[in-house]
Amino acid sequence: MENQKPLVKIKNLEKSYLEGEEKRLVLENAKMDIFKGDITLLIGKSGSGKSTLLNLLSGIDRPDKGEIKILGKDISKFSDKELTDFRRKNIGIVFQFFNLIPTLNVEENLNLVLSLNNIKNTGQTDWYLNEIGLFNRKKTYPDRLSGGEQQRVSIARALIHEPEIILADEPTGNLDEKSGSKIISIFEKLVRQKNKTLVMVTHNRDLIKIADKVYSIKDKKFESFQV
Ligand code: ADP
Ligand code: MG
Repeated sequence: MENQKPLVKIKNLEKSYLEGEEKRLVLENAKMDIFKGDITLLIGKSGSGKSTLLNLLSGIDRPDKGEIKILGKDISKFSDKELTDFRRKNIGIVFQFFNLIPTLNVEENLNLVLSLNNIKNTGQTDWYLNEIGLFNRKKTYPDRLSGGEQQRVSIARALIHEPEIILADEPTGNLDEKSGSKIISIFEKLVRQKNKTLVMVTHNRDLIKIADKVYSIKDKKFESFQV
């Protein structure tokens, strides 16, 4: 994998936030190389900057310095409109708190992503509903689903329009251990089957066993190890 060109390349990335008058450096000289088809984990303590890094990768937030090259393009130079278009097409995101649209049922939550991307539904929604074991709940609204079920829907939502890159921020962080491990095995199976590239933030070291590469952040220092 290492002699291949990375799909995502982060270099010299710096990000700070203002706390009152004070500037607080969160990421300094962050670097990552992420390869196609890999599951990359980012681990680190609470407050170490993991979500900040994911938000920079998805273009939800912007860096102070440095380069974020995704699919050969430096997204830190994009306008807001270009970023939104790029994100919608190329990146699927799974959040800790699911973030499904409460006024849409399960099926409609998935179909929305297809229509936003002008993709015709030729059976993808039903296929994903089967894969996540929720075909018979397709007319159900998110508030009637358990946390684990909602997270399965949000995994399908992140993948259904076939983006190249999937970002997940502590996807099991709000689930008990049993539904957490079920989520991870569904997630891993789909990502591998579709040959997608997953970057997942977690503080669960058990997930190292499904990863191809692991980065850790500690005191703003990045370290990577192959597993
Ligand atoms: P993690 O996801 O590893 O728990 P975060 O990336 O959320 O950590 O946060 C890293 C640090 O940056 C924390 O000290 C947090 O308080 C601060 N921070 C994150 N987002 C913001 C923001 N929008 N405004 C100000 N401070 C922030
Ligand atoms: Mg976080």
